[in-house]
Amino acid sequence: MRAKIFDSTLRDGAQAEGISFLVGDKIKIAKALDDLGVDFIEAGNPGSNQKDMEFFHVAKNLTFKHSKLVAFGSTRRCNIEASDDANLNALLEASTDYVCIFGKSWDFHVTEIINTTLEENISMIKDTIIYLKSKNKHVFFDAEHFFDGFKGNKDYALKTLKAAEDAGAECIILCDTNGGTFPDEMVEIIKEVKENIHTELGIHAHNDSGMAVSLSVLAVLNGVTQVQGTFLGYGERCGNANLSAIIANLELKKNILCLPEGNIKELTNTARTIAEISNFKLLGTLPFVGETAFAHKAGMHVDGVFKNSKSFEHISPELVGNERKFLISEVAGKATVLAKIQKIYPNVEKNDPRLSMIIQRIKDLEYLGYQFEGADASFELIVHKSFGAFKPFFEVLDFKTIGEGPSKANLHSSAAIIKVSVEGIEEITAANGDGPVDALNEALRKAIGRFYPILNMVHLSDYKVRILDGKESATAAKTRVLIESTDGAYTWSTVGVSKDIIEASFKALIDSIEYKLFKENNK
Ligand SMILES: [Zn+2]
Repeated sequence: MRAKIFDSTLRDGAQAEGISFLVGDKIKIAKALDDLGVDFIEAGNPGSNQKDMEFFHVAKNLTFKHSKLVAFGSTRRCNIEASDDANLNALLEASTDYVCIFGKSWDFHVTEIINTTLEENISMIKDTIIYLKSKNKHVFFDAEHFFDGFKGNKDYALKTLKAAEDAGAECIILCDTNGGTFPDEMVEIIKEVKENIHTELGIHAHNDSGMAVSLSVLAVLNGVTQVQGTFLGYGERCGNANLSAIIANLELKKNILCLPEGNIKELTNTARTIAEISNFKLLGTLPFVGETAFAHKAGMHVDGVFKNSKSFEHISPELVGNERKFLISEVAGKATVLAKIQKIYPNVEKNDPRLSMIIQRIKDLEYLGYQFEGADASFELIVHKSFGAFKPFFEVLDFKTIGEGPSKANLHSSAAIIKVSVEGIEEITAANGDGPVDALNEALRKAIGRFYPILNMVHLSDYKVRILDGKESATAAKTRVLIESTDGAYTWSTVGVSKDIIEASFKALIDSIEYKLFKENNK
């Protein structure tokens, strides 16, 4: 059995707050989805949006291995000929073989929102599909608000589907546009639809009740073949059905293929790529692909996973290209730390004396307010240093930051001076920045970048500050800074703690740079 995956990240997903795709971003995401092997990529609404049209013009010259591009539009406007409808003609201009059009299937929307008659709406659906078919398009019909429409006026809702079927739609997609339908009622409704409609069916669920994934999976189990959603669930309000979870559930739990065989191993990679291009941090707790989806913290859980991973994992993380993680914390025992060290030095054994040394060091640092759960790179440096594998790349001899008064727009507000020594050569550098931490980061990179040009590729991707109270740090008012750095291909996190926020940031920065240099040197 197979389900067809229809990704609308570039169309419905672009409605999400905080998303603004450039044409170049859209091409990168489309390529990532094609590499993974989804069946359809809905890439925009060329009639309503100039940027979307531009994408389709560029896309004409691209080749896709697997995916078909789809342009999205609506049924013709009331009381005009389909061929006179500017939006429909823009849809044709996108030159895709496949188009997806939405139309009304809830009588309330017809009479109250678009203010036309129920009969005219039926003609709008028919005419539009017939017109697009006459232009040799494969046509999918999104029955907007179908489930609400069915509950309000069953006969009319079914009539709209019948109109689409008679006009030649290749797939009719039942939309839970407001996201309020329950899985059990949806299953009953699909059964009734199947008694009346013989065209292939699809599901398009929104997540307003938190059930979009369940709705989509259940729809497939009840005979629906096309699943529309967005890869990471991005979308208006609470988002669309999260395709990454739907694909994993269908393939791994229900043996229903959604991707070319074997490609599910690329699921996590694709998720990270799409999040990165969308300029969102991938939600850690996202099922299957999130960074903490297979992270274990409590000592007993860690112990259990060691004995047999199925004790606390529903699937093996490797199946979706994700990784098991053991989080460091005071609640975690020796086993967690050992597991983490073994990822770096596989031959270390349980009774290695360096193990207790590292545990003691982590406990001491935690007492000072450090936390290594979100700072794997800082943890790794501690291990390398304890194993004597780390030789310093530079030494910071002195640094100062200077803050000016209220900054004028587009002027840097701070400056930093730093003195470093690299293999006996001293270097003093100054730099401006937006705030003291930024200035310090610039100055440090300028000072040692001359010796290590690889650092030019590194930039900060996230910066988090937390003021610790007495309970957490044993002394009053300390600051913990977590920074995330990236070189474009790889991301790592480091931590610094101090009473002074600038010093805490500086410690995290130094860890970040030392980590990158160490990795480069030990490739
Ligand atoms: Zn939608």
